[in-house]
Amino acid sequence: MIRGYVYRIKPSHTQIELIHKTFGCVRKMSNTLLFERETIYEMFHEYPELLNAHQYLTPSRIKQDYEYMYEVDSQALTTAWLHLKNAYTNFFKGHNNPPQYKSRHNPIQTYTTHTINNNIRIEGKNIKLPKLGFVKIKLHRVLPANCSIKAATVKQEAGKYYVSLRIEYEETKKEVQDVQRLIGLDYSLKSLYVDNEYNKADYPMYYKESLKKLAKEQKRLSRRIRGSNRYSLQKLVVSKIHQKLKNQRKDFLHKASRYLVNNYEVICIEDLDLKEMKKTKHFRKSITDTSFGTFTRYLEYKTKDKGKTLVKIPKYYPSTKTCSKCGKINEVKLSQRTYECSCGANLDRDHNAAKNIAGKGLEEYYKKEYGTDSLTWSSCAH
Ligand SMILES: [Zn+2]
Repeated sequence: MIRGYVYRIKPSHTQIELIHKTFGCVRKMSNTLLFERETIYEMFHEYPELLNAHQYLTPSRIKQDYEYMYEVDSQALTTAWLHLKNAYTNFFKGHNNPPQYKSRHNPIQTYTTHTINNNIRIEGKNIKLPKLGFVKIKLHRVLPANCSIKAATVKQEAGKYYVSLRIEYEETKKEVQDVQRLIGLDYSLKSLYVDNEYNKADYPMYYKESLKKLAKEQKRLSRRIRGSNRYSLQKLVVSKIHQKLKNQRKDFLHKASRYLVNNYEVICIEDLDLKEMKKTKHFRKSITDTSFGTFTRYLEYKTKDKGKTLVKIPKYYPSTKTCSKCGKINEVKLSQRTYECSCGANLDRDHNAAKNIAGKGLEEYYKKEYGTDSLTWSSCAH
């Protein structure tokens, strides 16, 4: 795995001076090579054999012409030389625009250097960089364990200095323990969801109170004469409750999703086709009220932020009809609240579905993480 980490650095005055010197040398290195390339191309482009045979100046040859370059990090110079060379090659292959001359007036200045013999490393609150020595670094984020720094880019932007580290590390296989922190959710119409342990995420009391109040005030509104003063006053009362309900619901959905993401590694849900369900008149009100869509969105970004996994069960999977004990498929009527099977299973319909979602979710998770589907829910967590 290769990743980038960016940190703010606070170089001293002498270090700043050297950093700017390096920016200058790197610019010079790059521009010298670009000028040479352009000149040679202009001279020889009609004679490919001459063009191809030309030996371009090497970094060490260029350095001989500009002695001050010996003062700065030689890896940074080589990297600049290589970057330009590659940019030129890619341009000829038609992959990108022609390389540009670098200007000292560019508001962002950078140079990149590569690690040799552990010469780039973090020690305490400092980072060691070639030629610069130890520079103060603001480590707002720790590097992964056992990683190695491959390259560092020093950047100046808007008067501030940054270092961007390219690091390489072995991704440690997720522990099987993670799987025990797996939860399956069946979205339900009464509470927000029922999980595979038969816990329900009930809407809070204050929310239910507001709902009752809304119903009462709505009824009152229906008795008023449209267009009358009292009607518009009552309408205001109703819309205020609506607003309040909306906020309360959002708040609840945030709390519920945060709880799950904090406590579980893998969260499995059904990939509901809400649009399809909304078309069904019977569902319309409840669906919009419980906001499965919003909840799913919250889960999506919160799991992503925390490095957890959200597994969406394919739509075709019959989570309601399948028996969570024996796997048999049974017909279930909409009005039927209990799931019964000839194997003896007898449990709440949503609980049964949640168990199936957890099981199917584990399978999907393993397929994705380990490329295997040999593990099943029953052989692992039950
Ligand atoms: Zn069964």
